[in-house]
Amino acid sequence: MMSLIINTFYSNKEIFLRELISNASDALDKLRYMSLKDSSVLDTDKALKIDIIPDAENGTLTIRDTGIGMTKPDLINNLGTIAKSGTKAFMEAIQAGADLSMIGQFGVGFYSAYLVADKVEVLSKNNDDGAHVWTSEAGSSFTIRDATPEDGPIARGTSIRLTLKKDQKEYLETKRIKDLVKKHSEFIGYPISLEVTKEKDVEEDVEEEDKEAEKETNEAEGDDADKPKIEEVEEEADKPKKEKKTKKVTTKEMEVLNTQKPIWTRKPEDIKPEEYSAFYKAITNDWEDSLAYKHFTVEGQLEFKALLFVPKRAPFDLFETKKKQNNIKLYVRRVFIMDDCKDIIPEYLSFVKGVVDSEDLPLNISRESLQQNKILKVIKKNVTKKSLEMFSEIAENKEDYKKFYEAFSKNLKLGIHEDTTNRKKLSELLRFYSTKSGNDLISFKDYIGRMKEGQKAIYYITGESKAAVEKSVFLEALKKKGIEVMFMTDPIDEYAVQQLKDFEDHKLVCATKEGLELEETEEEKAKKEEEKKAYENLCKKVKEVLGDKIEKVVLSNRVVNSPCCLVTGEFGWSANMERIMKAQALRDNSMSNYMVSKKTMELNPSHPIVVELKKKFEADANDKTVKDLVWLLFETSLLTSGFSLDEPTLFANRIHKLIKLGLSIYDDGADAAQEETAAGETGAAAAAGGDDDLPPLEDDSGTVMEEVD
Ligand code: ADP
Repeated sequence: MMSLIINTFYSNKEIFLRELISNASDALDKLRYMSLKDSSVLDTDKALKIDIIPDAENGTLTIRDTGIGMTKPDLINNLGTIAKSGTKAFMEAIQAGADLSMIGQFGVGFYSAYLVADKVEVLSKNNDDGAHVWTSEAGSSFTIRDATPEDGPIARGTSIRLTLKKDQKEYLETKRIKDLVKKHSEFIGYPISLEVTKEKDVEEDVEEEDKEAEKETNEAEGDDADKPKIEEVEEEADKPKKEKKTKKVTTKEMEVLNTQKPIWTRKPEDIKPEEYSAFYKAITNDWEDSLAYKHFTVEGQLEFKALLFVPKRAPFDLFETKKKQNNIKLYVRRVFIMDDCKDIIPEYLSFVKGVVDSEDLPLNISRESLQQNKILKVIKKNVTKKSLEMFSEIAENKEDYKKFYEAFSKNLKLGIHEDTTNRKKLSELLRFYSTKSGNDLISFKDYIGRMKEGQKAIYYITGESKAAVEKSVFLEALKKKGIEVMFMTDPIDEYAVQQLKDFEDHKLVCATKEGLELEETEEEKAKKEEEKKAYENLCKKVKEVLGDKIEKVVLSNRVVNSPCCLVTGEFGWSANMERIMKAQALRDNSMSNYMVSKKTMELNPSHPIVVELKKKFEADANDKTVKDLVWLLFETSLLTSGFSLDEPTLFANRIHKLIKLGLSIYDDGADAAQEETAAGETGAAAAAGGDDDLPPLEDDSGTVMEEVD
């Protein structure tokens, strides 16, 4: 990573300044938070500020803060160890085409210093330790030593001195730095000052003693560069005018570059979209604008202001369990308190970024008591509500919503699972493909709006992918009737839909589960009754053959072109859920015994295979071929219905037998013996019998091959 940063031709090297200022601001936040409980931490220096000092003569740029500073071990751990998880993630992201300016989001922002510097020296002092200097020249390892007076004033905080690369001297120019701070760091909550050199006209005939006096004053003030070194100039101007010559004197002054009035305290109507955007970038290190924002004030029994943002992309560690719980910075009456307050926004909204500034919370509140705090509960409720409102607003623009949904649909679905209060609102935000949606995603509202007359339920199917469900056997009848079916192909859909159950009084009905009732004409009903009687015995026989592999056998109303399918109980796992659970490495097996799908086999009485099977069974109830074919039908429908085969070899043996039949190979050797053992294991009637071998499939309908087809 270092060589990438050092050698890159990347054109946007300026981001280094934003990263270092942001680190300085974090360090100041940490100190200020500590000072709320123990004001003595400020004893060494009350001012909380960031200074930028260019030194053209030596070609260095220094960024200095009066924040918490680093102890010697901190310097080693925080700056010396590049083997952080973020490094790997950052490199992967870069290889995948991410922009280098994302570096700050991976927790390795400090190293961006090497975009512009050959050498970085970090002088740092924490209240609990002496001052140390960490030094590392591009690409080589680092050294640490105790600071000496030559290193400059030893005060609390961190001072980062960059020896700029030859071609990066532009970062010493006042204008360039001012523009950069304006662009990236305008909303930092501490004064950022730049040391600027000013030329002033000073009157020539200042008397000698005055000059001496002036020199002494400056020396007494020491190194304090905050004040102009020649202050008398102004005062002299007030003196009665005399004819005097002037000469040019250069002075160094600190000039504050940012307005620190927090943006969220301003009126929304006075804030330009660019300002929101700049603020968003400042608090998130994002290089792109946010997708949406919401700025609001809640007043009444309690009062707080908040500014929330939705990023355009999901962060690389969205569902990483160890990462920070959320991205909302909590302020109390403009004082930053913390940015990892767990109870300010629900976990499923952890991608929402922003600030909340409460008027009511006590300033010195401890982390522990925050968790129980009633005020915080109300804040959380409102922040959640407003976030969902913001998402609905995004949904007004199709393109934007597509982006949003791609990035955060999993979060919404997690919300459906977890957040009972907002479940309805969240379900309105869901989108799915369907049998009729083409390449567009549709909402439940869209679906209801174009339901067939008389249709009551919302039909959906779950499965591994759009391609897999599109052609599913379960959709045959629904498609034929022109009923739209939603595709739920994200594993999390299975969990979400279990909680949803209905939408605006329309029950959600799964196409792969029992209880799929379709509208039928009287004629259809009568036909069904007739078929039911006619197939009663076959159904019994099939159940007898398959034993406890299935719960029951019934006639199907959902398959049209296939001979059969396997459906699961309305409240148990679907085939897709079974697949998902099997894939979970740390799954507790005990659960699956209760939940594993109880399968019902549905036969299609209009399908030639089923018709012929019935005939064969009626001709000879004990025909061995019937058993073998029933097993084959069962196993193929396991596959078409989305289950996996418990014993694939057994299935393959049966298929091989059919292939042999097709190739007219009639042997009764080793293969038959193998078959016997295998069939014996499942309790299946020794498929078609070992010794009287292959069943005479070629009875009434022409050639063997046709039968196999
Ligand atoms: P990040 O800030 O995202 O954690 P960085 O690589 O920018 O990653 O910084 C690494 C760590 O070094 C920080 O987490 C912080 O602990 C420490 N650090 C960096 N700059 C400063 C600073 N100016 N003052 C105090 N600590 C700092």
